[in-house]
Amino acid sequence: MQKVLIANRGEIAIRIIRACQELGLKTVAIHSTADRDSLHAKFADESICIGPGPSGLSYLHIPSIMSAAEISGVDAIHPGYGFLAESSEFARVCADYGITFIGPTPQQIQQLGNKVNAREVAIKAQVPLLPGSPRKVERDEAMAIADAIGFPVIIKAAAGGGGRGMKVVFAREDLVQQLAIAEQEALRGFGCGDCFLEKYLLAPRHIEVQIIADQQGNYRHLGERDCTLQRRHQKVLEEAPSPVLTPAERQQVAAYALALVQASGYQSLGTVEFLYEAGKFYFMEINTRVQVEHPVTEMVTGLDLVKEQILIAQGASLGFSQEEVSSTGHSLECRVNAEDPVSFAPWPGLVTAYHEPGGPGVRVDSMVYTGYRIPSLYDSMIAKVITFGRDRSECIVRMRRALREMKLEGIRTNIPFHLRILDHEDFLANRYATNFLQELSKQA
Ligand code: ADP
Repeated sequence: MQKVLIANRGEIAIRIIRACQELGLKTVAIHSTADRDSLHAKFADESICIGPGPSGLSYLHIPSIMSAAEISGVDAIHPGYGFLAESSEFARVCADYGITFIGPTPQQIQQLGNKVNAREVAIKAQVPLLPGSPRKVERDEAMAIADAIGFPVIIKAAAGGGGRGMKVVFAREDLVQQLAIAEQEALRGFGCGDCFLEKYLLAPRHIEVQIIADQQGNYRHLGERDCTLQRRHQKVLEEAPSPVLTPAERQQVAAYALALVQASGYQSLGTVEFLYEAGKFYFMEINTRVQVEHPVTEMVTGLDLVKEQILIAQGASLGFSQEEVSSTGHSLECRVNAEDPVSFAPWPGLVTAYHEPGGPGVRVDSMVYTGYRIPSLYDSMIAKVITFGRDRSECIVRMRRALREMKLEGIRTNIPFHLRILDHEDFLANRYATNFLQELSKQA
């Protein structure tokens, strides 16, 4: 592997370019016309415009991306997260072109990217699941299944992701109509209308395990992350390790994750997600890509996950044993979004002044510079502030300090919302579940 095309934009494209540079690999960025002035296009060795702003015509348009790959003569493509990262079709096209897709095989993406199939793998691996429909739910059987599970239930699109394609149903009379809407939305949004039902937990925590597996059959877990703080099923603030697990629970959830890796024969970097309530874990899904929140694991383990992911794609064996993976201290990540901190309405525009925080224990993965105009077409996340401390309280103090130091003028951001979380007594005392931010955002 000598030259890598990064099929993404924003902070993750920059993150991947950095890893490639450290590995001595040449990089090719792609960008839409709306991203002409974006930092990822400037950071790469080469940069190619692949189409107009709307992602369907650029970042999701496989023929344009493959043309760029051919013209620039790359031998590998890194998909990042979002866009085509979990498209088995894209991985297959890369293989047809003889280009290494930095991720799992198309078959693994297809098997695990579909939540119904992933549930079957979990059953095979004897990993606990929430009660739900055994497979895609048919409209005429939905009521009987929901009654057996008990309300509330959640309708999920088998192909859904990124917090989209889910509907919680509290009242029996809403089920049939909500299922019909969910199916239509899933078909439009993900190209597959299949939905399934699952018991809805009212106040769980979201715990996920970072895993990594090479092509020689070696696999490790790299500890867990706690991503309980979410708004509308989208993560807002993540941390590692989870502040609520006992050592035995930590071992248990890692063992479940490894059982899934083994049962699926997975070969890449990935994340196994669970809900946790009353001392029990329930498997949710496997994400077959690098996650937004991967830096908190990097901070506590000292590993560079993107470099490891690339090395594995090159065919290298894992260079460390499970015993050699250790976790020290604590890390937090705040996702900084260009949005109003009270209404959460997107707030793109011209950044008139930008200053990143620094000092001990602070890392910023960002795409912003003074004079950058944030386009309105894409995700509102523009930066991630990551802090490290010897323990959770030092890490929190650092995060408050870093966020106050950060200057982002000309637009609105959710930094004031993050500061409210970081000052909240329930956050400090670990008394919260996935519904916490919904309540906090109402109190503004
Ligand atoms: P996505 O693939 O869109 O990221 P996930 O399956 O990972 O979706 O779920 C995202 C979030 O939705 C979870 O972290 C949790 O907060 C909520 N959620 C999903 N399933 C359930 C459930 N059965 N009960 C309660 N909350 C759930």
